[in-house]
Amino acid sequence: MASTGTWPPLREELRGIEPYGAPQLDVPVQLNVNENPYAPSAECVADIAAAVADAATSLNRYPDREFTALREALAAYLNTDGGRGVTPDQVWAANGSNEVMLQLLQAFGGPGRCALSFAPTYSMYPEYARDAMTEWVVGHRETDFSLDLDAARALVEERRPAVVLLPSPNNPTGTALPPEAVSMLCEAAGDGIVVVDEAYGEFRRAGTPSALELLDRHRNLVVSRTMSKAFALAGARLGYFAAAREICDAIRVVRLPYHLSAVTQATALAALQHAPELLGNVDALRKERDLTVDWLRAQGLEVADSDANFALFGRFADRHAVWQGLLDRGVLIRETGPDGWLRVSVGTPEEMTAFKDALTDVMKADP
Ligand code: PMP
Repeated sequence: MASTGTWPPLREELRGIEPYGAPQLDVPVQLNVNENPYAPSAECVADIAAAVADAATSLNRYPDREFTALREALAAYLNTDGGRGVTPDQVWAANGSNEVMLQLLQAFGGPGRCALSFAPTYSMYPEYARDAMTEWVVGHRETDFSLDLDAARALVEERRPAVVLLPSPNNPTGTALPPEAVSMLCEAAGDGIVVVDEAYGEFRRAGTPSALELLDRHRNLVVSRTMSKAFALAGARLGYFAAAREICDAIRVVRLPYHLSAVTQATALAALQHAPELLGNVDALRKERDLTVDWLRAQGLEVADSDANFALFGRFADRHAVWQGLLDRGVLIRETGPDGWLRVSVGTPEEMTAFKDALTDVMKADP
């Protein structure tokens, strides 16, 4: 290849770009990446360890490329949380929903095609598009972070995206999408794929349905989920989606051979057998979220309504100073979202008390 004048010879559009990543700092209270603060129980850990030990006896062999048992277990789980007869061949999984969505962009995006979402939203979306050489088109949310449905539909009809990414609840705002909005955008998208990213779906408030309920009605709808959040399994890296089986089949063309290791499959399967226990803290986290939102509002702050396990609050003239002030007091949150806003993940009651005490202190020092 001819000299690019720089080393290493990165693709032009990747030069100078900082890799994605929240700071991983060793501080006492970590409320920055929307993890579940509750570790798996001793019984769950023991079952995962036994399943991994069993898988280890045949690690000389490649794993089941079609992760058949895991697909069955994921389909069964989805049918307990909004799914209506999802079958194993309608389920796809990969190493985190990040990989799932990159695969969707690799299969359905590409040169000459575009992907679309509405900002502020998850900062990885434009990166999937870039990595799949897909044009990135961004619409905007209202000041309360909801979607103006007429404007959203008009943008979809005008740009005809190959993939629409609709997080519900949205990160970093916590905003859920009503089912009418999902249906309207699925119709507006024509043959374009509409991904409703329900990474935080299990935390949705009562009365907010999952887009899984709409799968039968829209063949272009993909509903993605993850075991990283409600399932408290971020370290295992398991994301998945439910969609028409033709969509699952199409992804098989772009996935790397044996992309889900035998260890990952064994871990996820063992964890799914503990679903009630792992999901047992979802209600407590929802309550803690609502208490946190109320408390922040009582301090005179603006807070976005949240259906997730985090809250976006502000607005601060110097949000970095507030973030740093909290960090100096041992509490790590996330400097993300529109200017002036900060995002805090919901932790244990003790962690939230530490957050509230630290924020009170910081606001007293520099209101
Ligand atoms: N979607 C959204 C909206 C997210 O916030 C995240 C993680 N922060 C993901 C997807 C990816 O999660 P994972 O790869 O751990 O499944």
